[in-house]
Amino acid sequence: MKYTLKRKIEEPFLQSKNSIIIGVNNEFIKLTGYSKDELIGKSLYEISFMLRLNDQICIDNIENDYNCYMFTKSCETREITILCKYLEHENEKMYFFKERVNSRIENKFHVINKLLSENKVGIGIYNASNLILLTANQLYLDLLGEYYDRKEIALGKKISEFLHIWEGSKAKEVWMNVVNTGESFYGKEIKIQTKNLGIYYIDNNIIPVIEAGKVKYIISIVEDVTEKILLRKSSEKTEKIIKQQKEELDAIIENMSNSLMIFDKNGSYTTFNKSARDTFLIESINVNKIGDSLKQYRYFDVNKQLIAYENLPAKRVIKGEKLLGYRMVMKINDSVVYADVNGTPIYDNEGNFIAGILCCRDVTGKIKHEEDLLIKTQYNFLNSMIDNLDLPVLRLSYPDFKITDINQKAYNFVKGLKPEIKSISSLKGQNYTEIMPDCDKVSVLKHIRNVLEKKETSYIKYRSIVASGKEMFVQKIYQPIVGINGEITEIVVIIIDVTKEIKDKLHVEENLKMQEEFLANITHELKTPLNVIFSSSQLFELYLKNNSLGDNKDKIRKIIYSTRQNCYRLTKLISNIVDLSKIESGFFELNLSNENIVYIVEDIVQSVSEYVQSKGMRITFDTNSEEKIIACDTDKIERIILNLISNAIKFSEPGDEIYVDVFDKDGTVEISVKDNGIGIAKDCLNIIFERFKQVDKSFARNAEGSGIGLCLVKSIVELHGGKIRVESKLGKGSKFNIELPARAISNLNNIHKNRQQNSKIEMVNIEFSDIYS
Ligand code: ADP
Repeated sequence: MKYTLKRKIEEPFLQSKNSIIIGVNNEFIKLTGYSKDELIGKSLYEISFMLRLNDQICIDNIENDYNCYMFTKSCETREITILCKYLEHENEKMYFFKERVNSRIENKFHVINKLLSENKVGIGIYNASNLILLTANQLYLDLLGEYYDRKEIALGKKISEFLHIWEGSKAKEVWMNVVNTGESFYGKEIKIQTKNLGIYYIDNNIIPVIEAGKVKYIISIVEDVTEKILLRKSSEKTEKIIKQQKEELDAIIENMSNSLMIFDKNGSYTTFNKSARDTFLIESINVNKIGDSLKQYRYFDVNKQLIAYENLPAKRVIKGEKLLGYRMVMKINDSVVYADVNGTPIYDNEGNFIAGILCCRDVTGKIKHEEDLLIKTQYNFLNSMIDNLDLPVLRLSYPDFKITDINQKAYNFVKGLKPEIKSISSLKGQNYTEIMPDCDKVSVLKHIRNVLEKKETSYIKYRSIVASGKEMFVQKIYQPIVGINGEITEIVVIIIDVTKEIKDKLHVEENLKMQEEFLANITHELKTPLNVIFSSSQLFELYLKNNSLGDNKDKIRKIIYSTRQNCYRLTKLISNIVDLSKIESGFFELNLSNENIVYIVEDIVQSVSEYVQSKGMRITFDTNSEEKIIACDTDKIERIILNLISNAIKFSEPGDEIYVDVFDKDGTVEISVKDNGIGIAKDCLNIIFERFKQVDKSFARNAEGSGIGLCLVKSIVELHGGKIRVESKLGKGSKFNIELPARAISNLNNIHKNRQQNSKIEMVNIEFSDIYS
């Protein structure tokens, strides 16, 4: 049927020729929102797309009329009837788009519209006949997935397009049921799988809207509950894991070998595991609160101190202390349990104490093992020490101090004290304090007490004892051997012989005393001549003042003599001190020349014989040879001979005799000076050559002295390569022997200097200056 455009058409239309748009009226433009340019020239197929009709129909396929939904450019939904009219011209058609009266959705569902715009829940409205999405808010579109999340794409599409599977799906069944029965559907936590979003969960309300007795629209209200579900699922899973872990933990706690106890802030126990129940006899006694078990148990610390209630581990934990490996000894009746205790306070988020955990490990077995091991090690060590030590060692049992072991050295020592002891085996088992000499017993007990109290080594300084008839000095060490719990298991006594050290010490003390004496002596020696010289000068001054010099000639002569004598004395002292210092520092030198030693000695004897006679004594020279040339320092030889003669005079009485002999022996020359004076005690013979040594001053002597002379003599003899020795008997006299090597030195310019007699007299005067006139 051909249709001729005769009247003014007010309905929107488009005109096509060969399926291409060749014309639209203004109403059509108004209806669709597209401009003429956007429309003219497009194919009907393209126009169907633009108006999102393509899921319903392609305009080209409409023969007469077709009810459907189109969408404007701005995505508004319009329910329309499209009428097709064929025009007279070949292949030209007119399509009228007639909007149905009162069909606009936005005017229909006021409540829904509000919800749509609020966008709090996802809302999509479909037409019931073919389930095409007519409108939706952004939330709904978002739930359709990335590709469909814009109205331009999603509107006009069938629901089947959005879902992963539609045909045969549960969703289709539900939707079709709503369409067919007109009954709403409410689904909670429905698992949805979209093409783009994957799996998620929704609460879905599918509500039919009925018009004229027929289901016309379907409103789908969707709330995304995925997060909630996942959260719930994960918390369910966590809860399950926690529950499982708790069960496992409970089983572990219950079955662990350590005792575990948990208590609350009031000190009431909430948990005891099996080990704790067994250890603390929980089943048989009533333990509810901290300290309840005190009636059965007593608790001690490692120092064996009773632990007070307030200091029990649980009490300390309540106070906030953390315990790590706190060792405790628990005693019930006769049994002892050692435990290492760990304690931890537990706090809530606000830092309040909510519970305390105590974990006790029974270490009794370990301690016993350690103890055995320690004792064994100590025992082995002691045994090998006692056997191998080069010191006297004894082992004493504790507390009865019986000798349990003794090495050979200690046995020898004890035998020295108590010769009646016959063998080592007879000593074993005897009480140590009985064996020690009586004088030792008190101090032994004192030191053992010291060892017991302080649990540390005690030394007895040194003690003089007489063993095997000899004086001995010993030091004793009392060493307690302490068990693992700090108790003394035995005492080891070590005896150290310190006799040599003590004697050396006494010797040093004696030397010091001697030096003090020497200084006092030297001071006296210096002061005496100086005083004489000083008072002489005062006398002279007085005589001068009185003009009485002439009247006091005899006195003046004496004063001059005494002044000179004292000057000699000073000279001797000073030169002796200087020479001794030179010898000690290695600067003393001999002025050697080949001399007739017989002559030197005879000459010096001759020079002093008159002086000796003036002292009521006699001096005799004898020799077996007239001449013996040896290399020597004449001055020094004269000095030592004079020194020996001077000593002989000093320690002899008038009437006594002095013999000076020179003997030419094989390879040596022996010079001896012998007197029959007071002699020297045997025990002093060794010391008189030492520096500053003088035999007890209380002995009668008619001279002064510094104790340097013999030391100097010995040094000079030794510098000549010779030796000096003394033979003496108290009350009988002394003999000093000098042995010089009898050798001459060939390349010496041997000019025998005939020294002036004056200088020799001077030397005699000096050397004899300390003999009382
Ligand atoms: P000093 O200057 O005191 O005499 P010496 O070194 O010459 O010192 O002598 C040391 C000590 O040796 C003397 O003090 C004296 O006790 C003793 N002594 C030395 N010679 C004799 C002797 N011939 N007779 C007895 N005692 C002597």
